[in-house]
Amino acid sequence: MEIKVTRATQTGTRPKDADLGFGTAFTDHMFVMEYAMDKGWHDARIEPFSDFSMSPAAMVFHYGQAIFEGLKAYKTADNKIHLFRARDNFKRMNRSAKGLCIPELDIDFVLDALKQLVKLEERWIPETLGTSLYIRPFIIATDPFLGVRSSYTFKFFIILCSVGAYYAEGFNPVKIWVSKDHVRAVRGGVGEFKTAGNYAASLSAGEQAKKQGFAQVMWLDALEMKYIEEVGAMNIFFIINGELVTPNLSGSILPGITRYSVIALAQKWGMTVSERKISIDEIFSASENGTLTEVFGSGTAAVISPVGEIRYGEKTIHIGDGTPGKTAMKFYDALTAIQYGTAEDTENWVEVIG
Ligand SMILES: *Cc1c(COP(=O)(O)O)cnc(C)c1O
Repeated sequence: MEIKVTRATQTGTRPKDADLGFGTAFTDHMFVMEYAMDKGWHDARIEPFSDFSMSPAAMVFHYGQAIFEGLKAYKTADNKIHLFRARDNFKRMNRSAKGLCIPELDIDFVLDALKQLVKLEERWIPETLGTSLYIRPFIIATDPFLGVRSSYTFKFFIILCSVGAYYAEGFNPVKIWVSKDHVRAVRGGVGEFKTAGNYAASLSAGEQAKKQGFAQVMWLDALEMKYIEEVGAMNIFFIINGELVTPNLSGSILPGITRYSVIALAQKWGMTVSERKISIDEIFSASENGTLTEVFGSGTAAVISPVGEIRYGEKTIHIGDGTPGKTAMKFYDALTAIQYGTAEDTENWVEVIG
């Protein structure tokens, strides 16, 4: 399929690196294509980033048939563009598509489209270490129909925005709150897919956490409310007795690309890694007996996010001494070095564009 390119006649200005936040500085162009049953995915194009019109009856507004991805492109010191594990993101998108009855994508085609779009928007990729170009592919159901079924038509987009350094104020441990009243997802549901509704379902708990001074919610499993699943929209890791422990993918946990990357590096470094059920009680007793030395989250936005405090009911534990753990730092440094091209890409995770 050919990609038709329409250049923007008016272009924006990229904010200064220091003024960049997250999710507001959109680039000049976007990639779009449509799906219809008789045509498959068609009408692929790169066009000016702009509002578009849709029927108020479009199914996505009513029943939430929508999936998305999040990944980043980085500018290296020698002026190359690095994409980090983009193929894995599109593979995951296809798994989400299957889960939400959305037609799958041709991964090679959308990867090429993404590279073409990023190349065109090169000037929007900030250069300071820690900044990047955030990439948001997404698919929405567009049938103007109020009956409940899977849509027959869809739209796929890739939009881009320049984003600032996540740790502009320093790599500081955050406080997290374990909710006893909320669950994010349940086995058999859509927790393992990147779908909009999972985020809508997490908002109320997130607001309660913020009101009490916590940065994120730690989610327990929905069946027994005992086992740890994720933190906010990040996967979670613990170091207990020197071993790296993370919840196994149970069906209600999002399989993070950063999670896979942390596990791969840990194994390569000779650490013992265990993916298993891990209860909140185990974490609190490991803290009491001194075997819990580090806790950190993993995700594309922050890469690694150290956790310094966990609150569960009336009990609070503190991890470390208020500074990031050395293993969390080591993962952060190793991953960002590969992303920004200051270390060799030994795992073949990077694609160079252009
Ligand atoms: C996207 C996401 C993650 C992190 O995945 P990465 O691929 O590492 O960015 C973790 N949990 C949830 C719920 C997510 O939506």
